Amino acid sequence: MYQQRANTLLVPENTTTIRALEPLVMMARAAGMNRFGLVLTTMLLCFGCAGKYSARINLNSAAWMQTSEEYRALSLGAYDVARRSLDEALEDPGWTALPSQVPANSAEASVLAELPAAIILDVDETVLGSLPYQAWLVKHDQPFTPVSWNAWVSESSAEPLPGALEFVQYARRKGVAVFYLSNRAYHGALDRNADGQITPGEEQVELKSYTIANLLRLGFLPQSNISNEDSVILRGETGKEGQVRPGWASSDKTARRESLSSGYRIVLVMGDDLNDFTAHPRHPDGGDSAVDLDRHKARWGRSWIMLPNPIYGSWERRLYGAGHELSTEEKINMKLDRLEAWQ
Ligand SMILES: [Mg+2]
Repeated sequence: MYQQRANTLLVPENTTTIRALEPLVMMARAAGMNRFGLVLTTMLLCFGCAGKYSARINLNSAAWMQTSEEYRALSLGAYDVARRSLDEALEDPGWTALPSQVPANSAEASVLAELPAAIILDVDETVLGSLPYQAWLVKHDQPFTPVSWNAWVSESSAEPLPGALEFVQYARRKGVAVFYLSNRAYHGALDRNADGQITPGEEQVELKSYTIANLLRLGFLPQSNISNEDSVILRGETGKEGQVRPGWASSDKTARRESLSSGYRIVLVMGDDLNDFTAHPRHPDGGDSAVDLDRHKARWGRSWIMLPNPIYGSWERRLYGAGHELSTEEKINMKLDRLEAWQ
């Protein structure tokens, strides 16, 4: 099955396409192109002929995340670093992970020291793995859609990343509050036929309960003193009046992160995307500009802990520029343009 799928990545089912490429391949050979160049050119031509988005470009990343011991080791290592940082933070009342919380004077330092300690964890690819969904996209060559994503979320079947649950249990034993801050949608389309097949639908339903159920099933929740509803903060959450709180509809997590800063000393932030830690300045063309990583140098690996995610994330949006839909060919070409080759 795997072999079959892997083959279809390079060889479309329409063999006429391949036959049509044969003269080009022969010309490339005659021109002395090496095997790598030949394969790459053929792939580009095949994707060009297909002329549509293909999730197959994520095959390598998905396989690495779902099968490699290296990914597992990185996750275990990140959570071990987190545990040591947490110990250090609890010993240091001036320690905070939020730049906005850094005290400017001794009065502010006293206020900060009095706040209970809390940590902010992203959900997907930080505490829970969405790899079965990512694998489904790749295997069935499907584009990401909110409807299929919400169907996955509604199963509450995601499993924890290695080391995540043990770390959260450790933090809870230390009396540290844990907040799960995710760009999963609070409301969204969820539509299924009676046979379980997903169909496009516009019905907007409340989705937060599925994430809470998933976290409860695994033991990430409940926690004492904070309700499950308050422990999980999603995109587009409505307040008591039924209105989305200012800034909470955005995938930029700043407003939601800062909402915790008046009640807690945020000692640690963990995520798999820069957006989990800091906002990206907007570029005039509508895309995101780069973040000045050096400005936050002292935080990485201490109060800000990043996990890897080569499948998706805001890094891709920055690479492609403004977030318009691109074909696989365009994406491959943009990625190739950005590579700095040695010759
Ligand atoms: Mg994430």
